[in-house]
Amino acid sequence: MSFTLHGLGVSGGIAIGQAQLLSHATLEVSHLTLPTRQLEKEVARFEKAVERVRDELEGLRGELAESAAEMRAFIDVHTLILQDPELIDGPKSLIRTRGCNAEWALVQQMDALVKQFDAFDDPYLRERKADVVQVVERVIKELMGRSGKIGRASKSTKGVKEEEQIIVAHDLPPSDLISFKEHRFAAFVTDVGGATSHTAILARSMAIPAVVGLRGAREVIKDGELLIVDGFRGVIIINPDERVLEEYRLRKTQIELERSKLKRLKKAESLTLDDVRIDLLANIELPDDVQAAKDNGADGIGLFRTEFLFLNRREIPSEDEQYEAYRKVVKGMAGKPVVIRTYDLGADKTLDQARSATNPALGRRGIRLSLSEPAMFGIQLRAILRAARFGPVRILIPMISNVQEVDATRAMIERAREDLRDRRIAYGDDIQLGGMIEIPAAALALNMFLKRLDFVSIGTNDLTQYTLAIDRGDEEVADLYDSLHPAVLMLIAHTLAGAEKSGVPVSICGELAGNPKLTRLLLGMGLRHFSMHPSQILEVKQQILTSDVGQLAPMVRKLLRLDDPAQIREQIRRLNSTPADSLAR
Ligand code: PEP
Ligand code: MG
Repeated sequence: MSFTLHGLGVSGGIAIGQAQLLSHATLEVSHLTLPTRQLEKEVARFEKAVERVRDELEGLRGELAESAAEMRAFIDVHTLILQDPELIDGPKSLIRTRGCNAEWALVQQMDALVKQFDAFDDPYLRERKADVVQVVERVIKELMGRSGKIGRASKSTKGVKEEEQIIVAHDLPPSDLISFKEHRFAAFVTDVGGATSHTAILARSMAIPAVVGLRGAREVIKDGELLIVDGFRGVIIINPDERVLEEYRLRKTQIELERSKLKRLKKAESLTLDDVRIDLLANIELPDDVQAAKDNGADGIGLFRTEFLFLNRREIPSEDEQYEAYRKVVKGMAGKPVVIRTYDLGADKTLDQARSATNPALGRRGIRLSLSEPAMFGIQLRAILRAARFGPVRILIPMISNVQEVDATRAMIERAREDLRDRRIAYGDDIQLGGMIEIPAAALALNMFLKRLDFVSIGTNDLTQYTLAIDRGDEEVADLYDSLHPAVLMLIAHTLAGAEKSGVPVSICGELAGNPKLTRLLLGMGLRHFSMHPSQILEVKQQILTSDVGQLAPMVRKLLRLDDPAQIREQIRRLNSTPADSLAR
């Protein structure tokens, strides 16, 4: 019988294949009480399993390419967890005092730790409990004599090519996801996981279709069953009938064809039909992402989210380490501009040592945190200034809400210059300073910022969150999160118009800029600098090449007068379906 499950599509794409169920090892452990004479042997068996998993992680780390910094960070986190005395000594004492078998002792200890994580206010830290569970699963698999690696075909998927296998798991540790690179599985679906989980972040960066949060998928999907995974819509179809299958096969082929055709656009100049030059910039999280930006012909880096260099570690990166990271990006972009956003920590991206606030999204986040930690901020600014010797660098301040923050940042940059001069360290001097317009206050009182900044960039992700009072990471209100809400569009239009009037360059670096369905809307609103995930650049370029901004502008002006979101959507659909040469008719 055919049926459908709905989850959270965290990585786009369509996959058709056979289910390969990965067991949730912690659910399957036996509960034994051992005789006293066996207890020390059991402790030794446990220690050996931990040792083997440690070796396995080390081996995986060694196999990783230079470019897999993100993966390496995940493995490091798992290795650290494996060294945590709470996780390792607890089970040993349970074996010795209560006579539990090693697997059961470990699961009990894991449950206790997970409860501690559940008590954290900070959603990011809460989600890290998944890492503990994943490490425990590895040790249990080792104890039970099974390989923790995916890639072993089950009986029912034997003989099926890997490209046609879809992994169905309760959860997938990022270290297992590495195997997707080796094995080329078609997709994965999991019972648990939120849009900000490590697994989701990795899936996107690896461009594997993925749907998470399916709750109970492992119970209803059988090994070897035929599945369609629609990562765009977050839908899984189990045992699809021939008609649905045919439809999806067609869509899949079309997507593949379109993707390969798009590659031809890499070198095409980003010009509209009426010869307006549009800048297509890349958003990156780590220095290695520069390759993807170049592969897709990016005009520069429009947003380097440097806070990712600070996550999953016990100490903040040193000035030299940050300098190396920024230099790599600047040199990699070979003369093209690089916008380095100062770390936007806080909210969902907290440092381990950060205190959790009552309402972190409204708390000490972004520039507020930076200015309250001048030593840490100074290190970053010096590192950026040093890297600016190798190409055009611009500094972008996240979360500005008042002009004192801009003035204080300028003063901090000046102090960083003086420090470097005193230390006789070379640095680049010609640095522009920009601010993110992502808090409604900054959009509404735009002029006072424009007077002080060399450029601005609209962060539509946060602008939507703060305008509508919808937590962008909360699944429960995800249906109300709407960047096309008239209030959000008004603030964007106001910012674009105000910046243009003052002659201050303005870009959008939120998710909106990478959505090809909104390219014409944004062009018509006056946007000329788009910054997005590298994989979105060519699709957006395709829209640009077939658009005429002179014709779009009056249509979009009319659209912006609408106050019904349904009508706004309908008009956007019309903008997109109208052939370019008849847009104005
Ligand atoms: C935004 O808020 O739109 C943005 C680009 O920044 P981030 O998603 O990193 O908050
Ligand atoms: Mg933001």
